[in-house]
Amino acid sequence: MIAGSGRLVIVAGPSGTGKTTIVRHLLGVFPRLAFSISACSRPRRPNERDGEDYYFLTADKFREKIAAGDFLEWEEVYPGSFYGTLRSEVERLWNADRHVIFDIDVKGALNLKKHFPKQSLTVFIQPPSVEALEQRLRARNTETPGILEQRVNKAKDELTYAPKFDCIVQNVDLQNAFSAAEKLVGDFLGDK
Ligand code: 5GP
Repeated sequence: MIAGSGRLVIVAGPSGTGKTTIVRHLLGVFPRLAFSISACSRPRRPNERDGEDYYFLTADKFREKIAAGDFLEWEEVYPGSFYGTLRSEVERLWNADRHVIFDIDVKGALNLKKHFPKQSLTVFIQPPSVEALEQRLRARNTETPGILEQRVNKAKDELTYAPKFDCIVQNVDLQNAFSAAEKLVGDFLGDK
């Protein structure tokens, strides 16, 4: 357990729900929030930077860190692709007197909450439908057809986790989703 007084805003939901856009928006609204940079073993996309979007590790290095107990939580989100939250990352941000916001998968979100039950808020971002989600993923054009299908199938499973979250934000209209998320996070952080 890490000692610290910071709070955790844990945003999750299937790939393509707009959760990354919502997290970016919240970072702009709440100056004390800072983004938890996860470690992952998938290849870096051309627009991504190591140490900003993720800490990109080889699968071997990732496994070494699992064995060393360096992760607060980790998941093999897609076969062969590991993602996880490093203890050192949360420590780094809490030491800087920041609250931490996470963009992680649904299982990781619920596991993280178990470490910090009182200090964390779990927010599930819900897409209008699986079809809408598939369309968004296609438009994003960051995945090959095989990977896209994998993500859509995983999304169907992830949607069943929504009731386990503290709150749900519907992302039918992005501006409404921004407002709803702002209200929830504002109430949770208060003036802290
Ligand atoms: P992407 O490959 O699109 O960047 O992310 C794939 C999925 O992994 C997303 O649902 C993302 O939120 C999730 N993810 C990112 N970082 C973490 C993490 O540290 N832990 C877990 N469990 N999932 C993560």
